[in-house]
Amino acid sequence: NSPRLKLGAVYAITKAHIDDINARHTLLKSLSDALDDGSAFFLEFQPKVNLHDGRPVGVEALLRWQFREGEVLPPGAFIPLAEASGLITKLDSLVMELAVSAARELAELGNHFAVAFNVTHADVMSPSFIPHLEQLLKRHQVKPEQIEIEITETQAMADYEGINPILETLINMGITISIDDFGTGYSSLAHLSTLSASTLKVDKSFVDTLMLGESNSNTHILDMVYRLSRQCHFKIIAEGIETETQRDALINKGYETGQGFLFSKPLPLPALIDWLKKAG
Ligand code: C2E
Ligand code: MG
Ligand code: MG
Ligand code: MG
Repeated sequence: NSPRLKLGAVYAITKAHIDDINARHTLLKSLSDALDDGSAFFLEFQPKVNLHDGRPVGVEALLRWQFREGEVLPPGAFIPLAEASGLITKLDSLVMELAVSAARELAELGNHFAVAFNVTHADVMSPSFIPHLEQLLKRHQVKPEQIEIEITETQAMADYEGINPILETLINMGITISIDDFGTGYSSLAHLSTLSASTLKVDKSFVDTLMLGESNSNTHILDMVYRLSRQCHFKIIAEGIETETQRDALINKGYETGQGFLFSKPLPLPALIDWLKKAG
């Protein structure tokens, strides 16, 4: 263990750190440039279905970034950076616009369900959030009932006092509010009973370990969340269903709606429209 070796290790760590900072800086610059005109961002849509017959009951819009030719980045690759840098506000307002316009298109084709989009805490808290949404609904002639907003349990509960009145306003407007990744955050039972939300979206991690007839701590959580949803009058949906076994186990637990690759991956709008025609 010579001092020189130790210094080498420190150098390696520092270099990795600097490389990381440089990479983040480059990505941030690209993100900021891409947001100037916005055309590199698009939405894919994943159906939410009735577990019994697979028919659509809604769709969720998920953001994609056409980063380079042939390279599409998933939200996980840039949303954390957008959040940390404040660019998220611009990004989410773009998403809102694209989602409302898709809602209009789907309604024109005779679909009656809502289009959901994901938001972050910072957006919802912005004073321009509701006026902007109202303006978009008016411009695209979309009814609030055709719109659903998803916010994660973690973000909703971290600022319950601040965000709940805004969620309440949105609900009173006729918009559906869903609590995303439910079960991974820390909901206080007291807050849950007064939370202004319509639906709990049970996180994929609980569905992942689901095997028919087998109990483990996650399957117990699925049962608990089911009872909780009945007690507090929330609708409930399970996300990340990949197998028929998982679907059947959820049906056995009383779950009626779900979302996941078993039914459909997120699809570009034209492919979604085809899917909807076939699924009826
Ligand atoms: P989320 O809202 O919980 O979305 C579900 C994620 O799980 C999506 O990943 C979806 O493609 C994926 N997924 C759905 N079904 C399955 C399945 O059966 N198996 C597997 N392995 N994955 C499945 P995606 O599109 O990468 O989105 C990740 C997260 O990024 C979303 O989680 C959401 O929190 C966030 N996000 C997506 N779009 C937006 C956006 O427009 N604005 C904001 N603020 N966040 C967004
Ligand atoms: Mg979501
Ligand atoms: Mg989710
Ligand atoms: Mg999730």
